[in-house]
Amino acid sequence: MQPPKQYTARLEEKIVHNERFIQYFFELTEPHEMTFKAGQYVSVKVSEKGERRSYSICSSPDIKHGFELVIDISPGGIGSKYFEALDFGATIEFLGPLGMFTLAPNDNEAATTFVATGSGIAPFRSMILDLCQEKKDTRSIILYWGLRHENILFWEDEFEELAENFPNFKFHPVISQSSEAWPLCRGRVTDCLRVHDLPANSGYYLCGSTQMIADVSGQLIGRGVLAESIHHEKFY
Ligand SMILES: Cc1cc2nc3c(=O)[nH]c(=O)nc-3n(C[C@H](O)[C@H](O)[C@H](O)COP(=O)(O)OP(=O)(O)OC[C@H]3O[C@@H](n4cnc5c(N)ncnc54)[C@H](O)[C@@H]3O)c2cc1C
Repeated sequence: MQPPKQYTARLEEKIVHNERFIQYFFELTEPHEMTFKAGQYVSVKVSEKGERRSYSICSSPDIKHGFELVIDISPGGIGSKYFEALDFGATIEFLGPLGMFTLAPNDNEAATTFVATGSGIAPFRSMILDLCQEKKDTRSIILYWGLRHENILFWEDEFEELAENFPNFKFHPVISQSSEAWPLCRGRVTDCLRVHDLPANSGYYLCGSTQMIADVSGQLIGRGVLAESIHHEKFY
């Protein structure tokens, strides 16, 4: 893996998906190329005092002159405020790429199951784009993504299109406080997992809150999954 370096990047585009999630498109300025593995993150300087926050890269590692982040601004601290105020053309300073939460070599696994809550989707979008579009991996790839309300769901068109183009990819959005009309999984990600058969011989990747990771790991181990097949990244 490439050792982390100091970088600067310029904000090229910003999509406000809804009141919680904003997607940012950065062009690297100095150095102007970064090699990273899907699942790695960057540590962004978010104040003049030098305070930092970590953000997983959500774009494909195939793109080397820029990268994307998706940020949940609801925690409302300095990181959220810094990104909310960031405007087109602004320069950010960051250290990257960092982290070991990358896909383990899984030649003997028949499936890869991703479980995210909230912004925990970020590293999985990068991994799924990499697996489907770049690596053309034919193993079963299953994504569970938990959010509180259906009106904060985004990227559903992108994931549904991926599922059409790559029939080995399945997407299950899970809404904990859904409306009556919500036709798919309701409740927590653990509720949705519980009513599904687990794929045989799968690796599991979990990303989100400490509580979700504990709950999902507990359920998986209770259903016979080996602890070494479960990988996680805690966001808070
Ligand atoms: C490896 C790693 C990768 C990360 N990647 C992302 C990412 O891609 N996108 C993203 O939005 N965040 C990501 N985070 C979380 C991010 O680093 C910050 O913690 C988050 O943005 C809150 O920062 P803040 O300064 O706004 O709030 P803080 O002042 O740091 O925290 C305010 C409060 O919010 C809680 N909190 C922190 N994060 C969350 C959260 N995600 N949801 C709900 N409550 C939270 C804290 O426990 C605290 O009580 C990642 C964290 C790690 C460790």
